[in-house]
Amino acid sequence: MVSDVAGAGKSGVNDPRFTAAVAMIGRTGASSFRIGWSHEDDGEPTAWYALAAYPSDRAEAAGAMDPVTAVLRLCERLIDGGVCQHCGRRTIFVADADTRGVDRLGCVYAWDPELATYRRGCEGDTR
Ligand SMILES: [Zn+2]
Repeated sequence: MVSDVAGAGKSGVNDPRFTAAVAMIGRTGASSFRIGWSHEDDGEPTAWYALAAYPSDRAEAAGAMDPVTAVLRLCERLIDGGVCQHCGRRTIFVADADTRGVDRLGCVYAWDPELATYRRGCEGDTR
């Protein structure tokens, strides 16, 4: 996956979920990823966008007032309502580690703070 996260580095992104979320987007089959911000001529406040493109010419984007939220929203758009390639259940993205209440509804892709990655709910089942 071609990834352009240089801009996010300049903005001082130090939330470990950012890098993990970009890796997660790569696992959805995206061929490229881009993060950017609104043009300075547009004035304040600055808005951020995250974009993923796929070999099929499909692309998806999400925006927010900060780069981490933009990437997490993009993960939500890409993953919610999909089908887990491993267990066949409906996929649900949870930005944080708390999956209470949703883990019964499908295969939850959630933040694992110990491993600093997003893991699928069925991953433990296949070990
Ligand atoms: Zn699964």
